[in-house]
Amino acid sequence: MEDHEGPECGKPDFVLLDQVTMEDFMRNLQLRFEKGLIYTYIGEVLVSVNPYKQLPLYGPEAIARYQGRELYERPPHLYAVANAAYRAMKRRSRDTCIVISGESGAGKTEASKHIMQYIAAVTNPSQRAEVERVKDVLLKSTCVLEAFGNARTNRNHNSSRFGKYMDINFDFKGDPVGGHIHSYLLEKSRVLKQHVGERNFHAFYQLLRGSEDQELQRLHLERNPALYNFTRQGAGLSSGAHGALESDESSHQAVTEAMRVIGFRREEVETVHRVLAAILHLGNIEFVETEDNGLQKGGLAVAEEALVDHVAELTTTPRDLVLRSLLARTVASGGRDLIEKGHTVAEASYARDACAKAVYQRLFEWVVDRINGIMEARDRDPRRDGKDTVIGVLDIYGFEVFPVNSFEQFCINYCNEKLQQLFIQLILKQEQEEYEREGIAWQSVEYFNNATIVELVERPHRGILAVLDEACSTAGTITDRIFLQTLDTHHRHHPHYSSRQLCPTDKTMEFGRDFRIKHYAGDVTYSVDGFIDKNRDFLFQDFKRLLYNSSDPTLRAMWPDGQQDITEVTKRPLTAGTIFKNSMVALVENLASKEPFYVRCIKPNEDKVPGRLDENHCRHQVSYLGLLENVRVRRAGFASRQPYPRFLLRYKMTCEYTWPNHLLGSDKAAVSALLEQHGLQGDVAFGHNKLFIRSPRTLVTLEQSRAQLI
Ligand code: ADP
Ligand code: MG
Repeated sequence: MEDHEGPECGKPDFVLLDQVTMEDFMRNLQLRFEKGLIYTYIGEVLVSVNPYKQLPLYGPEAIARYQGRELYERPPHLYAVANAAYRAMKRRSRDTCIVISGESGAGKTEASKHIMQYIAAVTNPSQRAEVERVKDVLLKSTCVLEAFGNARTNRNHNSSRFGKYMDINFDFKGDPVGGHIHSYLLEKSRVLKQHVGERNFHAFYQLLRGSEDQELQRLHLERNPALYNFTRQGAGLSSGAHGALESDESSHQAVTEAMRVIGFRREEVETVHRVLAAILHLGNIEFVETEDNGLQKGGLAVAEEALVDHVAELTTTPRDLVLRSLLARTVASGGRDLIEKGHTVAEASYARDACAKAVYQRLFEWVVDRINGIMEARDRDPRRDGKDTVIGVLDIYGFEVFPVNSFEQFCINYCNEKLQQLFIQLILKQEQEEYEREGIAWQSVEYFNNATIVELVERPHRGILAVLDEACSTAGTITDRIFLQTLDTHHRHHPHYSSRQLCPTDKTMEFGRDFRIKHYAGDVTYSVDGFIDKNRDFLFQDFKRLLYNSSDPTLRAMWPDGQQDITEVTKRPLTAGTIFKNSMVALVENLASKEPFYVRCIKPNEDKVPGRLDENHCRHQVSYLGLLENVRVRRAGFASRQPYPRFLLRYKMTCEYTWPNHLLGSDKAAVSALLEQHGLQGDVAFGHNKLFIRSPRTLVTLEQSRAQLI
């Protein structure tokens, strides 16, 4: 790798383009991509294109080249951003964060791993054991989280099905002393069902394919995933988790080993395996109508009773209670009287599925909590160590559009609207602050503001989430269709909302089923089927109590709300949508309080082909990520701003007063002399530390005279 790229490599910063048009942007992106240069800046924002092949860009030597350097001293790289975030945190004792965005398969999670690796590599000159331990857990936890939270989808073979925000705490010396992972909205409906070509979460296949025979016997499992309803769909598909070479078998060993090394106790790992097995058995339970099932006349029975035995054994709960929870629910009938009400086949199947999803979700959350417990900053004396600073890394699901979009996509896309809004605010705010800091007059810039779309979703009383909650709180009577009608009434004039009712001629939406949001990233049609149900996210108290009463302390810990008696469960629990909204609001607040760095990931093609960049596909992403506006904002008023030393480094060869070194007292004076010689001094403003260049023409002139010399 050259430390400085030549002119044949395109512009390392889109701000240097002659003109900001989509054509120029794409040409530069393409040119660089062909040369294996997948990273390009827009000022301090890093644009990254997934190469879908291993490039020799990473590892200890590359890390060493970026360590301690300024952003501009080396070619654009994730390491440079990680380093900038780290240095900003150390230098100014300010919390920083790195926000990674882009659609599924664009390379967000890989980017987050490279960032973590960089941070782990450049810290701990003191060789303290505690620091080593924290770094080890940080790095190893990724593989555990991926086993439980990732799955093969049609868009990405190792797709994260949860959002992840990770804080790394540093002491005053800049060493990592703790960490915390926050997970967002696991796509738990995947436990039950997957699209053709997709799989359930990796953990299930890893357990089946990777366990020893004896272990499988203990879990009452057969090796073949096609035998289980929940894993049948993906049974013929390979893992793809870490490329074709990594199999489910070897991943199972690796994940189990990683859990042990991180600090999970042996019994805990066993419980995790038993819970996974219980979910698989649960999925195979079918219900039949009977004359008499012992609980009631003309009731319901489980088709294969052995499965109930397995579930009871694996969850260490009483068998008859498992059976009861599957066949009936307890309801309070006035005062403290409890009666048992038998399920119909449909009700029982619904309850079984709700239980399977919930058990998996609790398992996942428990794994995250357990890792957090292990990573918690310990052994520190706050008087001696001073205040912690934090670097946050956000790797969250990107904008998603499928042929049919449901509640999950609605939440995910809302999340992206929130983050886009934050991006807009912060980029503009940062610009403004910088101008003030440097003593230069600020001039405002037009930018598409998506606040109105965020409002459409989250506004109190009338927003889509509020209307949905309202529908959920009205017991039983409101259907998805009525929910849709209410939305139509409230939002019929909203520029970003439509439905068939409101646009009778639009045949791409189905009457009474679909509504459409014009997102900043494009139009998405949502089917309301299941919205109320998924938002209510209801699980009978009987299951919660059952699992809370397990004699396995680990499993019990996953179900603290099982303590409650049915008569005490009066308060309506928060809906899934509201919990998600609250977590998004908190996330955005948290990010806004930190100094942000951005990585914008682009997926080059839909087929995961190495080295191919589909122009149309990328053009769309560039446009909705707002990258052109980003370049324009960066150039508006001032096309470019650079600290004086950086400017000199790039252009000093174009002037005899500055090449190879200047004798002018300050870099500012040297820059002034250089510009004077080019006749460009009228187009710039001199900040305290940085040079501000007004028109892109000036930059182009400078770039040209530089290109002639190298
Ligand atoms: P996302 O998290 O955005 O959905 P991932 O980070 O999981 O996407 O990337 C999807 C796949 O693309 C990875 O499994 C890997 O095969 C490939 N990939 C992503 N980034 C890189 C990279 N920098 N170098 C090589 N391959 C990459
Ligand atoms: Mg991911």
